[in-house]
Amino acid sequence: MSDNNTQKRRIVVLGGGESGTGAAILAKDKGFDVFLSDFGGLSEHYRRILTEENIAFEEGQHTMELILNADEIIKSPGIPDTAPVIKAVRDKNIPVISEIEFGGRYTDAKMVCITGSNGKTTTTSLIYHILRSAGIDAGLAGNIGKSLAYQVSRDPHPVYVIELSSFQLDNMYDFKANIAVLLNITPDHLDRYDYKMQNYINAKFRILQNMTPTDSFIYWKDDPIVSRQLEQIHTEAAMYPFAEHREEDTAAYIDAEDNMIINTPRTSMSMPRADLALHGLHNIYNSMAAGLSACLLDIRREDIRQALSDFAGVEHRLEPVATIDGVDWINDSKATNVNSCYYALQSMTRPTVLILGGKDKGNDYSEILPFVREKVKAIVAMGKDNAKIMQYFGENTDLPMADTHTLDDAIEACRGFARAGDTVLLSPCCASFDLFHSYEDRGTQFKEKVKNLL
Ligand code: ADP
Repeated sequence: MSDNNTQKRRIVVLGGGESGTGAAILAKDKGFDVFLSDFGGLSEHYRRILTEENIAFEEGQHTMELILNADEIIKSPGIPDTAPVIKAVRDKNIPVISEIEFGGRYTDAKMVCITGSNGKTTTTSLIYHILRSAGIDAGLAGNIGKSLAYQVSRDPHPVYVIELSSFQLDNMYDFKANIAVLLNITPDHLDRYDYKMQNYINAKFRILQNMTPTDSFIYWKDDPIVSRQLEQIHTEAAMYPFAEHREEDTAAYIDAEDNMIINTPRTSMSMPRADLALHGLHNIYNSMAAGLSACLLDIRREDIRQALSDFAGVEHRLEPVATIDGVDWINDSKATNVNSCYYALQSMTRPTVLILGGKDKGNDYSEILPFVREKVKAIVAMGKDNAKIMQYFGENTDLPMADTHTLDDAIEACRGFARAGDTVLLSPCCASFDLFHSYEDRGTQFKEKVKNLL
């Protein structure tokens, strides 16, 4: 360790994306000796910021002599623990933290943190929308928006709404959420957790660490994995479970008249389910979690109702694109796993032509089979290699199917299958990297091509 009296403490940031660059700026502002190292290439945007900020950095390599002399390492959530640089850092016992942990040290703002396997971005955006609509000066951080560290240093807010992935939670220790939301847990990213589900569950539950009785924990009561884990652990936080139907202790549910009910110690509110901007059961859960968070932050009921009913939704999540010749086209490109496609199908009310495919992460399609049989009229596989999808649905359904390898061909096939009154749904269950740069790229191209049909 360096001598604090004679030498500045050294912080090395690994990874130069939004979180790494923000962490480097905060570290510089707090007087640390800062160095940022990215093994890949930096985007032009972040390279320019680092240069303008006079922050020392390197890209395309990790120079160990400049890294292993750090007092503390801030690691981008994208870097796995198995990376050689992290192994070297651990061998030297240098503490590794996440950007959120670092940012949290320098603010007393209220922290509303959202995690789960699916629905994080939607719920985080919804809570942010409610707070902003109610005139609260909230910041949006985590996987979306500007990094927390940057905002804490240069654009501070009294409240932050933070989307937390398990990777960010992995390196959080002293950080405390005032309100923590855990939406659900289904298997995801197991490659980063030694293929042990319990490791992934433990990471998600880190959102509860350090919480006290004045803090609140909002969670989905009917999630079997969450319920089982809650029996194993102890938390001081006040508990606010939500569920579809009223159960013992539920703080939010749908009543017999189809109203969403929310009860917290200081607020009780009700609003017709039909008034919610986001449809589908999964989005009711997201709305309940957001409504509970807002009630706990003492937002007025009228403001909460208004914001839950006028939220414009999030791009690439069950996003309506266009209606053409009576066919609704929907972009759910963000559905990169089977569970999110499950919820997308659950919310379908019309015969559906389903576009599936991409980079398969070991998918088990049996989860969606009942909905496919009930609601889907044709399957269009779109990917480099569609063999698994063609075989699985070929063997388990009688549906017409198309085997396509480009977006153009997939859209053409959909047009062949869809009739007025149908829906075409892109909810691919797979990552996009075989044919596209990202799920955003896939969704954006899909929307452009669909709009060209108008
Ligand atoms: P995340 O940020 O956790 O990846 P998003 O809000 O981006 O989640 O939603 C991703 C996909 O997951 C959406 O396309 C939707 O189909 C599905 N989804 C959204 N909310 C939920 C939920 N509460 N439970 C299950 N699936 C959901």
